[in-house]
Amino acid sequence: MSRASLQRAVLALVAFAVVVAPAHGQATPAAGAPARRALIRAGRLIDGLADAPRSAQGVLVEGERIVAVGPYAELAGRAEGADRIDLSGMTVLPGLIDNHTHVLLQGDITAADYDEQLLKESIPYRTIRATVAARTALLNGFTTIRDLETEGAMYADVDLKTAIARGIVPGPHMFVATRAFAPTGMYPLLGYSWELKMPEGVQIVDGPDEIRKAVREQVKYGADWIKVYADRRYYVAADGRLRSWVNFTDEEFKAFVDEAHRLGRKVAAHAVAWDGVDAALRAGVNTIEHGDGLTPDLIDRMVKQHVYWCPTIYVGVYVAQGRGGAWPKMIELERQAFGVALKRGMLPLISFGTDAGGYAWTENQAKEFGYMVKYGMTPMQAIKSATSVAARLLDQEDSLGTVAPGRYADLIATKGDPLADVAELERVKFVMKGGLVYRNDRRGRNDNVGEGRSRGAARRGAAEARTRPDSPPVAHLGAK
Ligand SMILES: [Zn+2]
Repeated sequence: MSRASLQRAVLALVAFAVVVAPAHGQATPAAGAPARRALIRAGRLIDGLADAPRSAQGVLVEGERIVAVGPYAELAGRAEGADRIDLSGMTVLPGLIDNHTHVLLQGDITAADYDEQLLKESIPYRTIRATVAARTALLNGFTTIRDLETEGAMYADVDLKTAIARGIVPGPHMFVATRAFAPTGMYPLLGYSWELKMPEGVQIVDGPDEIRKAVREQVKYGADWIKVYADRRYYVAADGRLRSWVNFTDEEFKAFVDEAHRLGRKVAAHAVAWDGVDAALRAGVNTIEHGDGLTPDLIDRMVKQHVYWCPTIYVGVYVAQGRGGAWPKMIELERQAFGVALKRGMLPLISFGTDAGGYAWTENQAKEFGYMVKYGMTPMQAIKSATSVAARLLDQEDSLGTVAPGRYADLIATKGDPLADVAELERVKFVMKGGLVYRNDRRGRNDNVGEGRSRGAARRGAAEARTRPDSPPVAHLGAK
């Protein structure tokens, strides 16, 4: 470890202590003590459901939940003793939800990048870095993530989720997929001598019986979702469609979906091209990830079957030049697919999902918003895709994704108007998750909450969250 990176590691620990200690204290009031209350004064409120913002609103928070929302003047009268948080110069929104992340991956443009990570970094090391990724996501305004597989890091996502839930490290609410699935020979690491036993980026399974057992095993160890790699080897066919090789037989796909659903888990399918999406839809999966090659027929089937789509646009742009092949063309195909999907009634099923981790965590996930708007959504539609729509994908609409009584007090704020310039979401100034403030730099500084904080240390914390990792990035959209 270089001196600079050692120094950064020490700073990270210092920053953790500053961010976490007060937050943890607030999270666990003494037994019998009344839950702490806070009244937020919102200049404008985008609640995640309504089509227009409302001005001069108040949000009353008790403990980790929202208990009332309404005109500020009204709420102020019945919020005696509550802490006041003045965001009257800002736009307040629900905490953002990213339904496709990889906190255990640090960017992977080429196969060599990916292999290096699995070969040279231990799972404990990768998990330490994942804590930084999780904190980065939170400070960027993402209060919930669906983390769609660990890329060879086994069940480390479950451990990170537990540590966040217990207040050990700061991070978003997590829904995790653990190891993901592909069949023999269809996922990295590939191309090494047969004499070597190489690590796998997923859990390798073949045949329905093995699949059922493996799904049970992942659920046993904490999987909230089951992730399946449906296809690979993408190519543009003569008819202009993006085609691919399908990873599993129909019988195998069915086994995933039946077993997962029987155990109360939903299935996310990595399906980039026509053949992969077709097979995944025939099996009855719940979400399509990437879907660059969606065609009108597939889009109609998704709408009919109520299947969600996480387009992950920016990661495709990010890796295309480095990967070559069909990848640059896929950007244009996905742009077309996005426009067609909007025209054919798919809006309520398009969920914000970025594949962060497929690109370095130093890139702000919120860049995805700009592409969604450029491809045809209004800023409000893009915001809903990352709030109320994303919460529905997770079956969490009663807890997440909207500013309403009963929901978690997950709130963010921007200084400028995100409806005028959606890139404002790349400059989030205030982050509250579960009633605890993790970021508050509305006067140009990053307080990172809580009593007894040191502003200097808080600033170092913010800087650390942006620190570029030392090792080169790694690749997973993978299975090229
Ligand atoms: Zn991914």
